[in-house]
Amino acid sequence: MIKFTVKARDEKTKARQGTLQLIHGSVETPAFMAVATLGTVKTFSADEVAALGGQILVANAYHLYLRPGTEVIEKAEGLTKFMGWNRPILTDSGGFQVHSMTGLRKVTDEGVTFQSHIDGSRHTFTAEKVVEIQQALDTDIWMVLDEPVAYPAERPTAVRSLERTTKWAKRSLEVNPASHRLFGIVQGATYDDLRERSAKEITALPFHGYAIGGLCLGEPSDLTYRIIENIEPYLPADKVRYVMGAGYPEDILQMVSRGIDLFDCVLPTRNGRTGAAFTRNTRNTHNGRINIRNAQYKNDMRPIEEGCSCLACQKYTRAFIRHLFMADEALGPRLLSIHNLHYYYTLMREIREAIADNRFAEYAESRLKELHP
Ligand SMILES: [Zn+2]
Repeated sequence: MIKFTVKARDEKTKARQGTLQLIHGSVETPAFMAVATLGTVKTFSADEVAALGGQILVANAYHLYLRPGTEVIEKAEGLTKFMGWNRPILTDSGGFQVHSMTGLRKVTDEGVTFQSHIDGSRHTFTAEKVVEIQQALDTDIWMVLDEPVAYPAERPTAVRSLERTTKWAKRSLEVNPASHRLFGIVQGATYDDLRERSAKEITALPFHGYAIGGLCLGEPSDLTYRIIENIEPYLPADKVRYVMGAGYPEDILQMVSRGIDLFDCVLPTRNGRTGAAFTRNTRNTHNGRINIRNAQYKNDMRPIEEGCSCLACQKYTRAFIRHLFMADEALGPRLLSIHNLHYYYTLMREIREAIADNRFAEYAESRLKELHP
């Protein structure tokens, strides 16, 4: 049901290129998963995401359970059909959202009781319930309920989160042991020994893939990369690896070189909606990022990124897109989101090609230099 095959390895780094076979199709890795929290990548139809090169999306079990409700999605015969996306979907448990609601929740070893952000109704998520919700959504990959902690975390908090995450991981596997689609999650905050302990405990359990959670929460990048480096030897080489919530293009390059296969982040679409574009232009930009609202683009008749083959860059100028943003026209955020997703999917395709040709180390070095000239 879930099968991962490594097809090529880079000799100078830990980067690998593989194929992840899932119920609704296969995914070439390393892959970037665009975020469709509520069943839609904001401003896009599912076909548009596929045409840009999207292979797999991330949806959120917590949000979809509250609205429209799992019964509606079951009636539609699963989330892929409901949202018109005929390809794989990974669902996050919503643990992160629930744990971020300070004041509205109570966490015990049993699970998390919280109030809906929509209507204030009370709900309890247990490790088992979160699996049942994702089973009802019929998605390709289910994430276990875990307990992420904010950065920085005190050691006792980190220990408690780690122990609960392991307990919940074991209980998740008991729901449907023969036909589960679960990935385990390594926690442990920023403590090397706790990360190591969590990695050992979680990888001892029969999950189809392993995620590293609780990263990219504001800690320095060097620390994020060191934690991944330390965990990597414990992650089984024949299983897919996922860093949750990463990240910037530089994070993806750094993490691929440390053996990570899957990424998800709201950046390309969220930035697109607020006027920020990722580009390979290095002059007069912040690591290649530009804000189209800036006055300097008022009369700029160049595309967002010179040389880019996306629809937005083929047809429209910075001046026009800036005008759309200033006039609050819906096409502005759409065009920047199209460009940004194209940028991410192109980066991932180039990474895969570089690994297959055993020149990833050189590719990553040149891209990183471009990002930090
Ligand atoms: Zn473009």
